[in-house]
Amino acid sequence: MPVSSDAETADEAADPEAQQGLPVNELFYSLQGEGKLAGMPSVFVRTSGCNLRCWFCDSYHTSWEPTHAWLDIDAIIDRVTGHDEAEHVVITGGEPLLHQETAELLDRLSAAGFHTTVETNGTIYRDTAIDLASISPKLANSTPTTAKDPRGEGEWADRHENRRVDIDALCQLIETYDFQLKFVVTGCDDMPEINQLVERLRDAAATTIRDSDVLLMPEGATRERLAETRELTAEVAMEHGYQYTPRLHVDLWNDAPET
Ligand code: SF4
Repeated sequence: MPVSSDAETADEAADPEAQQGLPVNELFYSLQGEGKLAGMPSVFVRTSGCNLRCWFCDSYHTSWEPTHAWLDIDAIIDRVTGHDEAEHVVITGGEPLLHQETAELLDRLSAAGFHTTVETNGTIYRDTAIDLASISPKLANSTPTTAKDPRGEGEWADRHENRRVDIDALCQLIETYDFQLKFVVTGCDDMPEINQLVERLRDAAATTIRDSDVLLMPEGATRERLAETRELTAEVAMEHGYQYTPRLHVDLWNDAPET
C-alpha cells in the first residue's frame, strides 16, 4: 500500500502540527530480500529520515529527499494486520531507530504476535521488542564525497563520516538482540575494513560474534549493478568464511518501488 503517493515533502512535514506518529514513506507486503530471513513473506514499514547519507542509498526518498505521510501507531498497526497472511514485520528506513515512536510500534507489534526485524545502520540503540536486529554498519565506501554525492555537493561527507560507526551503539544492539551484521560490499578493497570492524566488535562486545553472523551483500539496487558486484562478493564471502546474502527483491523485481 503506497503511503507516500500523496506524501508531504520534508519541509511540509516540519509543521509541528503534522508531526504525530511516525513519518512513513511506504508500507507494503513483499518477501524479505536480504539476510538470514531472505524469502520470508513480510510486511514492510519504511520510515523516513536518516542520520547518514550513503551515496548509494537505495531508499533515496527516506534520506536524501525524504517524503512521507505521518501515520499514528494505531493506523500503522491497522495496515499491518490487514495483511493477515504475514507473521513477520520488517521496520526499515531510512534509519527507523531515529524515532522514539518506532519503539512503541515494535512493542505493539510484538504483543500482537508478530516477529519483528529492524533494519538499522547501527548508530542508535533503543530498548524495545526486536526479534532480529539486522545491523548494517556503513563502511568508508559509503561516504558521499563530492565525486559520489548524488547531488554533487559533498555537503554531507564530514557529518556522514563522523557518524557512520558508533561502537557503543553497535555493542548494545549486539548484546541485547539476536542480530546479523550485514555489510554492503562494493569491491575486494572493502574486506580489510570489514575484518577490522568485526575484530573491534569482537573485542568490545560481551556477545560472541560468529562468522555466520557476518553477512556480505553485494552493492547494487538494480539487476545491472548487481551483475557487476555479486560474483566478487560471493568469492570474498567464501574466502573469509562469512555468509553471502542475496538481494532477492532486486533479482525478482529490479528496482521497482514497494519491493
Ligand atoms: S544508512 Fe541506510 S537509509 Fe541511511 S543513507 Fe545509508 S543506506 Fe540510506
